[in-house]
Formats: sequence, structure tokens, C-alpha cells
Amino acid sequence: MLKCSICINDERVTRILIIDGKPICKECKAYLEHPPNKEKIREELEEILRKVDKAIVAYSGGKDSTVALYLAKVKYGIDVEAVMVDHGFMASQAIENAKRIAEHLNVPLTIIKKDYSDIFREALLKAKSPCRKCSKRTMEILRKYAIEHGYRYIITGHELPFGHHPYRIMSGGVLQIRMLSMMSEEERLSILRELPFEFPELPGYTTNCLILGPALERYWEKHGYSFEHRRIAALVRYGLMSKEKALRKVEKPKVPEWQWRLVQEKLGIMIKPL
Ligand SMILES: [Zn+2]
Repeated sequence: MLKCSICINDERVTRILIIDGKPICKECKAYLEHPPNKEKIREELEEILRKVDKAIVAYSGGKDSTVALYLAKVKYGIDVEAVMVDHGFMASQAIENAKRIAEHLNVPLTIIKKDYSDIFREALLKAKSPCRKCSKRTMEILRKYAIEHGYRYIITGHELPFGHHPYRIMSGGVLQIRMLSMMSEEERLSILRELPFEFPELPGYTTNCLILGPALERYWEKHGYSFEHRRIAALVRYGLMSKEKALRKVEKPKVPEWQWRLVQEKLGIMIKPL
């Protein structure tokens, strides 16, 4: 199987070309032809953040949004409200982390409970990724919340694996700011070490979601690779994560029986007999 010599993509996930005798994936080829300007992206982010006086932080209690919340409040001195949309399958440790971190940083925390069973049930039954639909719904809930409460900015713990701008204009004039654009894994971990953040043991390298592991396992069984593969490959390409760590993150997760049981019972489906 041909493997890209730059990132971790291989023939299972994308097309591999031979360029000057070396295997290179089509995404790395595009990257080499039009490299994004890292410095420029970080500068653009700084420039926007200087203008922000108050904002909501999309807070899942996971590690990336914790880093975003810390940076918004402490580094940039923004008047922030942490808003968590609980989709019904948040790990209890994530909710505990969220409460502990918000208290530590002296930030108000609002939890909005919603039911995403339809998205998760469909994803598991069809062995698809639930992440895009889940994230889209959450951003829409937050956008409405922002407008109702007079906020113009939503800060998120997103990185920038594709695209060239650290922000996105949403309808109603709300701006989403991707706080972790071009930030390395090591930089994130060094911030987390300073905070009372506890790493939960969950399959799928998530620090907050109980659906991701089972969804990855199902997808693996059907397709033979992780639906996170290309996103993680992009982090390697940008020099934000080591190849070794990335390869571990795209391995097939081992979901414990209790988690499969809980997820199936709550969704009322039976995929894996236990
Ligand atoms: Zn590549």
C-alpha cells in the first residue's frame, strides 16, 4: 500500500501520486503548491482578538475548548461566558471538567441541554461519522444564543486543518473565531498542564464525547480506516502533530462494553449484541 511521504495519508483514504520518485498524497501536493502562510494566519487571529471585548466560548469540556477558554479569558482578557451544548452523550468527566475549569477561571458557565439522538442513531446504524452534523447543530444553537444575548463573537476550540482564515462569518453577523488555528499539540498540552483538567479515559482520543468511539469502531469495521484520518493527516502536514502520535490517533478504538451498552440503550438500537 502506498503511503504519503509527508503526512499519514495512504491509499485507503486518498490518492497517492509519485512526484520526483516520492509518494505524495493529493492533499500534500496541493499544500506544496499553495502553502498556507502560518504567520499570516496567526497574525490575522491576533488582529481579530484585539477587537473582541466580549464573547461566548463554545465549551464542550473537552481539551481543545478548555484551551480556547483559557486563552480567551487569561491571554486576551475577553469578558467571556462559557456555553456548553449538552447533546445527551457528554462524558460525565467532561461536565465535571467544565465546571471545575469555569470555576477556576472565574467564568460563568451555561449548559443548554438538547437531544441529538436522531443524528447519533443514524450515524451508528449507517456506520457514518456523526461529527459534521453534530457540530453544525451545535454552532446553530450557539449562534441563536449569541444573538439573543447580544454577543457578536463565538470563540471555538477548532483548529484550521483546511481553509485559510481563522474566522467564519455566520448569518446574523456573528463571527466564529477558531482560536486554535495553527496551534501545535504540544502548545495545547502545556496550557492544560497549568489547569485543573483531568484526562478522561475514553476510546477514540476524545476528552468529552461518548458517541465518537462507537462511531469510529463502526466506521472502521465497514471501511477499514478512521473517519478522522484526513483531518489528523492535515495536522501532521502542517507540522502541528508528530507522525507517531497521529498514527496512534487513527487506530481502531476499543470501546468498552459498558459504553456500547449505555449508548445502545439510550438510543434504543441494537448493533452489537452484548
Ligand atoms: Zn500527504
